[in-house]
Amino acid sequence: MCGIAGAYGVENASRIVSQMLKALQHRGQEAAGIVSSDGSKLYAVKGSGLADEVFNHVDFAAALPGRSAIGHLRYATSGDSGSKESIQPFTAELRQNRWFALVHNGNLTNHLPLRERLQDGGAIFRSHSDSEIFLHLRARAMAMDLPAQLRESFAAIEGAYALLGLSLDAFYAAVDPQGFRPLVMAPYQGGWLFASESCALDLFRVSGTPVAQGELIELSASGKNSWSFGDRSRLRQCSFEHIYFARPDSNVYGRSVYRVRVTLGKILARKVRVPDAARERSIVIAVPDSSNIEALYFARETGLPFEFGLIRNHYMGRTFITPEQEARELGVRMKLNAVEAVVADRSIYVVDDSLVRGTTGRKVASLLREAGAREVHMCISSPPVKHPCHWGIDTPERKQLIAAEATTEEIARSMGVDSLTYLSVDELHEALEDPDGTHHCTSCFTTVRPVTGQLLPPEHLIRPPSH
Ligand code: AMP
Repeated sequence: MCGIAGAYGVENASRIVSQMLKALQHRGQEAAGIVSSDGSKLYAVKGSGLADEVFNHVDFAAALPGRSAIGHLRYATSGDSGSKESIQPFTAELRQNRWFALVHNGNLTNHLPLRERLQDGGAIFRSHSDSEIFLHLRARAMAMDLPAQLRESFAAIEGAYALLGLSLDAFYAAVDPQGFRPLVMAPYQGGWLFASESCALDLFRVSGTPVAQGELIELSASGKNSWSFGDRSRLRQCSFEHIYFARPDSNVYGRSVYRVRVTLGKILARKVRVPDAARERSIVIAVPDSSNIEALYFARETGLPFEFGLIRNHYMGRTFITPEQEARELGVRMKLNAVEAVVADRSIYVVDDSLVRGTTGRKVASLLREAGAREVHMCISSPPVKHPCHWGIDTPERKQLIAAEATTEEIARSMGVDSLTYLSVDELHEALEDPDGTHHCTSCFTTVRPVTGQLLPPEHLIRPPSH
């Protein structure tokens, strides 16, 4: 998963993009980059680390001049984590000295055969990133006009992409025909701003509208043009954006993340029976911060008190992205601590947004027990994660997923909790106000391909590095 942002036709475009990237920092902490255009040249600043670290000492007017810019935040991935060549934006010189830069959020599911086909035709790739494919396809279709390029390039690509592109004199934004990944846009000071989530636009007090599925937008001196492309008969917005990934103060796909999380918490509460004899000593706590809203509304619905039983150290990064399991476990312990004064002798209903490997849940259960909790009831505001995502959420290999094979009872036992409650896929759809389940991708929970409806193939066949 990654974050992207762009500005077209505005003063201080690159500085604005850097500020939007900071607001989107939760979407990727491994690397950050910006490319700007002043109409005669593209300029780039990229580096490993947080946006703050990469851009804080940058003199934007000198290093990234111009009224257009695009930026990217990279999420750590298994494949080529840490590789400098994989830091976006990617830039290339196309024919007749026409420079092009792009940023991509999502995964291309036919990345491997496409890459091989392009390599057979002489293409040389600089990174292992699937995003580079867009540059090659664009280079090959340069002689055509834009609608023809669309038919030629996008028709070859399968999978998820929210894209921003920059040439010397134009700016592009596109979302794949199934609309997997979010992208919002808003007019600003005579130009335009684009971002993965609306929280980045809030900085500039503008409200965004989603870029539609299968829509390409071109902004240039001749104004705004847009084209539809691909088979847009299926909408497959990522349900995990609402469950975990997006900030709760954002709207993604035109829907408030906060409101969805409220409903997830309420539905979860309806599934849990608190015995009368245990009511007095029972409390609800969140695994901060990603499940705060679900836990609060879980508490309201059950009538149990909401307490802060776990405190988060905000100076630690996200543990999920720590590569080795041992480091990840220590990471959870450094990140979260139990408040003995709150949890001792209590029956705890602990709400978390998801169980992936089970590392966080297991540690939370043992932290609460060590602090004296009498019972630990784990309540998860999403269904069991049974398959890695091929469309851009960086879930680990299937064999590492705690729910890939095990039953709920087995998982509860292995985590050392007194009970474990998940949402069903239908309940998730209810929270997303998509009762027929026709608008969202839930393939990580159902193991069914979002586009063809067939079962997902073995993961190694289609798993590219994610963005
Ligand atoms: P795990 O510890 O592997 O079971 O991961 C679950 C925890 O990580 C939950 O507390 C989530 O808030 C968080 N999480 C879930 N999915 C992701 C993801 N794709 N990237 C980072 N963190 C995640």
